[in-house]
Amino acid sequence: MLTRDALAGKHALVCGASQGIGLATAQLLARSGARVSLLARDMQKLELARESLEHPERKHRSLSCDMSDLVAVRRLKNELLASDVDILVCNTGGPSPGPLLEADTNQFLEAFTQHLLSHDLLVKSVVPGMRERRFGRIINIISTSVKAPLPGLGVSNSIRGAVANWAKTLANELGPHGITVNNVLPGYTETQRLEQILQNTMARTGRTRQEVSDAFTADVPARRFARSEEVAYAVAYLSSPLAGYVNGINLPVDGGRTVCL
Ligand code: NAD
Repeated sequence: MLTRDALAGKHALVCGASQGIGLATAQLLARSGARVSLLARDMQKLELARESLEHPERKHRSLSCDMSDLVAVRRLKNELLASDVDILVCNTGGPSPGPLLEADTNQFLEAFTQHLLSHDLLVKSVVPGMRERRFGRIINIISTSVKAPLPGLGVSNSIRGAVANWAKTLANELGPHGITVNNVLPGYTETQRLEQILQNTMARTGRTRQEVSDAFTADVPARRFARSEEVAYAVAYLSSPLAGYVNGINLPVDGGRTVCL
């Protein structure tokens, strides 16, 4: 566990921070001493999230931006260049589900834009400051599908693989400047996204919530879902100066579900 001031003086930009893993991460980074900028689309939800952060005197702020709109992401560039971001958490909503053979080109284009191109623009906005200060942490929340593709997630499996290789390439390029780039791979995590998937499965199969949850966790050695805070702890460690020699990795936080090493 990080001390309460492990991230003192650091500025963290957390994307997808209005709920779920992003919100838990923003809350933990604020508790660990960082000033936090929260990014998502809905300003009202962002403001509620911002009010939930400890240490309001650090002037946490909310940024409304749709990550599927590259023009909107580009608009943030100047603001970010000037705002000395030390920690960038790349995170957004998951791509639409379905088998690969049923996915259309637009779904691929949307996912590529939202998951890779927009984060690439954000990285290019914050890296000049990180290089100057010789400190930076870029953490991408992706999926265990970079290790073993998940059934029924054709577009997601494809895009996550691309993001993982983008991140590894960045890790190689930025390592000499004191900047690390790592990926956190959540397993089933209790968020609104997972709740929606459970509800859809219940409606489709007529099974109870307990039956559906048991079926999901049957192949998780921990036999339970993660709490979003448990994913955030991994992000907080990778964000900290303690993790300076950890670069270019994929860290599953999945209760042991991923079958390969
Ligand atoms: P979530 O849907 O609960 O939250 C996603 C966040 O991203 C929200 O703040 C949402 O407003 C924001 N967002 C969505 N689309 C956006 C857009 N176009 N522009 C800006 N912000 C946008 O998701 P979560 O469960 O917290 O998952 C976060 C990431 O982790 C996703 O990529 C998800 O696929 C992945 N993941 C989640 C699980 C899980 O079980 N929850 C498992 C594996 C991977």
